[in-house]
Amino acid sequence: MNPFLALVYGLVGGSFINALLWRIPKNKNITFDRSECIKCGHKLGFLDLIPVLSFIFLLGKCRYCGKKISWQYPLIEIVSGLGLYFLALKFNGLEFAWLAGIFLLSVFIFVYDLKNLIILNGSVFIGVLWVSLGLWFFKINNFENNILTAFVIFSFFFCLYFFSKGRWVGGGDAKLGLLLGLWLGWPMGLVGLLFAYILGSIVGIPLLIFRLVSLKSKIPFGPFLIIGAWIAFLWGQKIIEWYGNILTS
Ligand SMILES: [Zn+2]
Repeated sequence: MNPFLALVYGLVGGSFINALLWRIPKNKNITFDRSECIKCGHKLGFLDLIPVLSFIFLLGKCRYCGKKISWQYPLIEIVSGLGLYFLALKFNGLEFAWLAGIFLLSVFIFVYDLKNLIILNGSVFIGVLWVSLGLWFFKINNFENNILTAFVIFSFFFCLYFFSKGRWVGGGDAKLGLLLGLWLGWPMGLVGLLFAYILGSIVGIPLLIFRLVSLKSKIPFGPFLIIGAWIAFLWGQKIIEWYGNILTS
């Protein structure tokens, strides 16, 4: 896959994700309405909607009302663009397209959970369909492993959810765990889960110590699950080998 073309796909995908992130919580039509400025409501033209570049040339301000545009928009576009760029260095053709879809969905779920503290059922449902399609295509002989992993991780979260009455994890985490387990299979699903907990502790414990959050505040776990899953997918094999070497030497 041509990495620069992938970069452009990612930038455009990120721009679409921005539109979804803004429209879905407000129940706006997600396909047909033209984008508008959040502050003044002015409909945006083509030159206002070029990923990253519009933000730079408009110096981060709306052309019509002069109010600041959130840096969230170019950031999401850049992350999406770079993500697809790096995937394109390793993967080709349909496999690239499949992973690119998973990556863009990951970005969406990550930010949506961070901002709204919820993982939409629809996003998990689309993910399960998309992942299943790819597994059926690329791993037709070894599909059971993935289904089993999805079930194990879902059960793990469901038990935590059930016994803590939703205080330790949210129901959305169980569904996201199912999706990521289905994608990664065994043992990578477990590696992803471990990294999610490690990252969650690295971020969460200082926040607790410095009282930026309390034990009662809700910290979304979805973003950690997603970063953990991608670490497992990209470097899990190396991590397992490295860990095996330590244990045997
Ligand atoms: Zn405006």
